[in-house]
Amino acid sequence: MARFLRYLAVSLVLGLSAAAQTAELSKTVQQFVRVQSPKVVLSHVRVIDGTGAPAVEDQNVVIEGGKIVEIQPGADVGKSDGAAVLDLRGYTVMPGIVGMHNHLFYIERPNLEASRHSDQPLLVPQMTFSAPRLYLAGGVTTMRTTGSVEPYADLNLKRAIDAGKLPGPHIDVTAPYLEGSESYFIQMPHLTSPEQARQTVDYWADMGATSFKAYMSITRAELKSAIDEAHKRGLKITGHLGAVTYKEAAELGIDDLEHGFSVNTELDPGKKPDVCTESDGGETIARMDPTGAEAKDLIHTLVSHHVAVTSTLPVFESEAGPGRPPVRQAMLDAMTPQAREDFFLLRQPRPASAPPLPFDPATAWKHELAMERAFVAAGGLLLSGPDPTGRGDVLPGFGDQRGIELLVEAGFTPVEAIKIATLNGAIYLGREKEIGSLAAGKNADLVIVKGDPSKQISDVENVEIVFKDGVGYDSKKLLESVSGRYGQY
Ligand SMILES: [Zn+2]
Repeated sequence: MARFLRYLAVSLVLGLSAAAQTAELSKTVQQFVRVQSPKVVLSHVRVIDGTGAPAVEDQNVVIEGGKIVEIQPGADVGKSDGAAVLDLRGYTVMPGIVGMHNHLFYIERPNLEASRHSDQPLLVPQMTFSAPRLYLAGGVTTMRTTGSVEPYADLNLKRAIDAGKLPGPHIDVTAPYLEGSESYFIQMPHLTSPEQARQTVDYWADMGATSFKAYMSITRAELKSAIDEAHKRGLKITGHLGAVTYKEAAELGIDDLEHGFSVNTELDPGKKPDVCTESDGGETIARMDPTGAEAKDLIHTLVSHHVAVTSTLPVFESEAGPGRPPVRQAMLDAMTPQAREDFFLLRQPRPASAPPLPFDPATAWKHELAMERAFVAAGGLLLSGPDPTGRGDVLPGFGDQRGIELLVEAGFTPVEAIKIATLNGAIYLGREKEIGSLAAGKNADLVIVKGDPSKQISDVENVEIVFKDGVGYDSKKLLESVSGRYGQY
């Protein structure tokens, strides 16, 4: 794509003097910039606007001062006014992904064996270098960290990205996990009382965290205290719960629930109040008939309490049974040799030496897909995020794209799936006036992909350029910069 390079020269002259651009970009960030100019015209491009509307062929999208200023029928544009003009015939522009379960860490399983056994404790090393680059390369322009293990690193990273010092998406920094006293994560706060939950929320809100996440063994009383304090500060709280069921959490006022419907424990055998279960919700989703009375009642409760649900299909995909597509080479290239080894171990069919699951994961997968559809059909706000934790075949950025593909497998149309991964996240964050869809006046956070994802959803993988605040970043260069690093830093 030599023509892009030609216009880059224009941008270097004009771009740096443009007062309307965002913060001045550091040398580190500049090396990934492919398009920067006070005015950019994406000409003859197919537009998927993120609202769920059908794709519109042959449009011109004009960007000025970091904003979309107009979207018009495609036309040839002269270059005399100094604008960078990109001829995008054969390409599609869609909104930047708003990733809602996008961690900045990897999960390290010491001495992992084929039987899936690993030694305690699990450790969670930060991917503060590689993850933001992988996200941006994959088309993510805004993300929620959805639980922090190194909150000062996450907060400082967010500030450094916003100041133009480091590459990466805009970040909603979630505070450290609000975990109860029983936990296999040694790096999380283990709360022992509602008062401690309140204090923890208060402290991290003061430090700059902009969202919260409750975790598996938190009790109803602790969760209630955390929800009330977060809401008092005008902040939202989500949960990957276990000891508390979905309906209990909805009635306590939670804003969002992670992992679709797969970690609701209400039908797990022997469920006791405030205590986690053996299958962490696997039995409930496998038992729950998506068209049955229990499912309807659950969905009704969530929708009437305005509780969003975050779909994290990529992290469950490895348990979904045979027939999965091969792993992308670019994803393997991003990993360290050790991460690759663990990745293939976990991707094997479950060996006989592994402890048997108390439910059929293929049934759980089918029910999960159907529940997500039913939730949206009932008016629920479904969000999307990959949960890149090194459990399955999930990496930052790549996983966000895979999430969109799996929403299509669930039965959403391609443009509906893209809306879930873009505009819905913006709506949840209360930022839908600025981001999440393509319209005049909105921030120029957008992704250019080769092909037509409205016809073939896997084209969301063909990311060429990712615009954030009107600056176009080179996806391939970002990927190259982390080659072989993911899993280490
Ligand atoms: Zn997670």
